[in-house]
Amino acid sequence: MIVEPGALEGDVEDDAEYVIVGTGAAGATAARVLAEAGAGVVLVEEGPNVPAAELARGTVASFGRLLRDAGGQVTSGPLKIPLLQGACVGGSTVVNSGITWRIPPWVYDRWAAEFGLSGALPARELEACFDLLDEELSVRQTREERLGGNGRVLRTGAERLGWESKTTHRTERDCEGSARCLEGCANGRRQSMNHSYIPRALAAGARLYAGCRVTRVCPRSAGGLAVEGTFALGAGGGGRHTLRAHARKAVLIAASAIHTPALVLRSGLDSTGQVGLHFQGHPGVSMLALFDEPIRLWEGATQAYEITEFRQRGMKIESLSLPAEVLAARLPGVGAKLAAYLRQMDRIAVAAIPIKARARGTVRTLGPFNRVNYCPEPQDVALAVEGLARVGQAFFAAGARAVLPGIHGLPERISDPAGLELIRRARPEPGALNWVMTHMMGSCRMGGDPRTSAVDLRGQLHGVPGVHVIDSSVFPTNLGVNPQHTIMAVAMVLARRLLEDRA
Ligand SMILES: Cc1cc2nc3c(=O)[nH]c(=O)nc-3n(C[C@H](O)[C@H](O)[C@H](O)COP(=O)(O)OP(=O)(O)OC[C@H]3O[C@@H](n4cnc5c(N)ncnc54)[C@H](O)[C@@H]3O)c2cc1C
Ligand code: SF4
Repeated sequence: MIVEPGALEGDVEDDAEYVIVGTGAAGATAARVLAEAGAGVVLVEEGPNVPAAELARGTVASFGRLLRDAGGQVTSGPLKIPLLQGACVGGSTVVNSGITWRIPPWVYDRWAAEFGLSGALPARELEACFDLLDEELSVRQTREERLGGNGRVLRTGAERLGWESKTTHRTERDCEGSARCLEGCANGRRQSMNHSYIPRALAAGARLYAGCRVTRVCPRSAGGLAVEGTFALGAGGGGRHTLRAHARKAVLIAASAIHTPALVLRSGLDSTGQVGLHFQGHPGVSMLALFDEPIRLWEGATQAYEITEFRQRGMKIESLSLPAEVLAARLPGVGAKLAAYLRQMDRIAVAAIPIKARARGTVRTLGPFNRVNYCPEPQDVALAVEGLARVGQAFFAAGARAVLPGIHGLPERISDPAGLELIRRARPEPGALNWVMTHMMGSCRMGGDPRTSAVDLRGQLHGVPGVHVIDSSVFPTNLGVNPQHTIMAVAMVLARRLLEDRA
């Protein structure tokens, strides 16, 4: 059952064994595990429930309905990095590309050795969760006919240079190659949470309140575990109603690495001073290339091909098909110059380079606002610049006529491989690059010691019995690969621990 603001006639009170805040990768996975084990589950989601038939209605409309602040969430401070997140039933999985990677062994080994997590997140159990997720969410390698021109040129470049590369593994069933993942997959081919685990949790009896922002988590010591929230105004007008959902066993916070610490801080539940520290991510930059042959960004899977050669160094290169409206923001110039580029739109290729950044930031609250203080370090900038030069190499190897690196202070257009030397020698300030971040983690770090971590080895906030964090906030480091699979596997393990306690 999904309850939406328009259907309400008054304030709502509910109770369940487990109340989950957020319905993205972590929240939906935990809901499916708990509900199918017979537990009572209530989910609360700030964003709207957007039916499949209303997805993929164009970029502007989709951003407005599916993304946090319509895509306008940014870092605080002088450097504004867009922090893209979904804010709807299904969370960021609704708008993501469905690429899956398991946690790399060298990252897991660090989690085990440096942060003592091998007992909390046993390697074998995680592997079994990955196998299950692969099966249930239909993880498969992108088919040749869904490569699209964009994936094809990246593959050609990588093969000619002899670099390790492959078609992406994604959660999809018969992807039609509409290149519109950013608008949500209207036909349900991508197995985002709104098309997979949420329906399963609902079928097992979970109740979901959509369009309801949780404003406070109440601890057991304040008269019983509960969450309090406020519904958005219903379409038919009327009052703004409230929700109070009591949790008989636990509250699970899965509101993402930004909104989870913000909610904990606003609720006054940070007993360690650790909540909101160690925020990390994979900031990314992008390279555009002009080809003589048709590329047609609108054909093929949104992200079909990836170069993995430099992965262990913290740099991954992915083909990325962008809609014209988003591409226009990355193209140089305005007016006639921009129009000239847009006229060549069918011959433009794009690749993204998310990096495993060293930078650490913080999430803080200021009244109703969140502040994400974060800026890439010089080594991160150097890695991103190297990534741009590498992609330039791949595009030229595939026959590109020119590349557009998007580095302020450098020529907007480089027309031969020798010109890439300019990029390699560049030492730009962080603000000279076009960053975007879609992978975030680390802001409620897991660990046994409350002096250095926010949650314990079962995900429970230190000193706050019954309130658990289950999303990527608990990761002690970033991953260097697309995170949703690891987020789901960790949420699965933590939900199972709650079931063991329930038995
Ligand atoms: C454009 C884009 C492309 C991406 N591509 C990939 C990819 O291909 N592969 C991959 O692995 N990862 C990808 N990611 C990242 C991945 O989607 C996220 O890392 C993952 O979904 C995060 O899971 P989560 O559960 O922590 O948060 P989310 O999935 O973001 O879900 C959090 C939910 O909590 C809700 N919420 C927040 N605060 C409150 C509150 N106070 N009350 C109620 N609800 C609240 C939000 O509205 C949201 O729906 C991409 C992300 C984006 C934005
Ligand atoms: S590219 Fe494939 S998975 Fe993405 S929206 Fe289109 S059909 Fe769905």
